[in-house]
Amino acid sequence: MPTGVRLVMLGRQGAGKGTQAARLAEHYGVPHISTGDMLRAAVAAGTEFGLRAKAVMDAGGLVSDEIMVGIVDERLHEADAATGYILDGFPRTLAQGRALAGITESRPIEVVVNLEVPEEQVIGRITNRRVCKSCGAIYSVSAPPASDWTCDRCGGEVVQRDDDTEEAVRKRLDLYAAETLPLVPFYAEQDLLAEVDGVGSPDDVFAQLVSVIDARVAR
Ligand code: ADP
Repeated sequence: MPTGVRLVMLGRQGAGKGTQAARLAEHYGVPHISTGDMLRAAVAAGTEFGLRAKAVMDAGGLVSDEIMVGIVDERLHEADAATGYILDGFPRTLAQGRALAGITESRPIEVVVNLEVPEEQVIGRITNRRVCKSCGAIYSVSAPPASDWTCDRCGGEVVQRDDDTEEAVRKRLDLYAAETLPLVPFYAEQDLLAEVDGVGSPDDVFAQLVSVIDARVAR
C-alpha cells in the first residue's frame, strides 16, 4: 500500500490535472490541494475576499502571488498535509515556485509532474467540462453523473464553471504560456520534473502517472 508523496502537478487548463490529482490523492493517501477549488469555496462562502477573487477568476486572470502564497503556506501547515499532498494549480508563476521552495524547505517537493496535452485539444475538453458546485468533482458532457446533473459523490448540483467560457479559457491559456510554462525548465533544472502524456483515457494516464511517480520517489 503506497503512502505519502509531496507532489506538484503542472499542465495547462484542460490537461486533466484536477481529475488525476483527485485520483492520485486517494492512491497515495494524501490531501488533494487545489487552489482553484479553495478559491471557489471562498466565492461560494460569499466572503469579501471571495467576491474580489470571483471577479479576477471570471475574467480568466490570476489572483496575486502574495495572496496565493499566504493561502498555500497556511494549507500546507495543516495536520493532514504532514504525510504529503498533491498540489494542483500552484505554483502558477515563477514567483510562486520560488516561494513554495521556501515554504517546503524542511520537507521539499519530491516530484513535479507536467501533464502534457496540446493546446488545440484542450479547448474542447474545457468547454465540455462540468463540475460539482459543492465538492468540485469533475464531469463532462460526455461523462456526466449517473442521474440528472447530480453529483455521484455528494449529491451536489453539477454545473458549468463561470470561467469556462471560450473567451476566459483563451485568456487563461495565454497566461499559462506566459506565466506558468517557465516553471517547466525551473523544475527540470532541479531534476524534479517528470513529463507525462495527458492524451489518452483517464485510466491510462493514471497508470502512467503512478509508474512515473513511483520510479522517482524513493520508498
Ligand atoms: P484552470 O486550471 O482551469 O484555470 P483552476 O481551478 O486551477 O482552473 O483555477 C481557476 C482560477 O483560480 C484561475 O483562473 C485563477 O484565476 C485562480 N487561481 C487558481 N490558482 C491560482 C494561483 N496559484 N495563482 C493565481 N491565481 C490562481
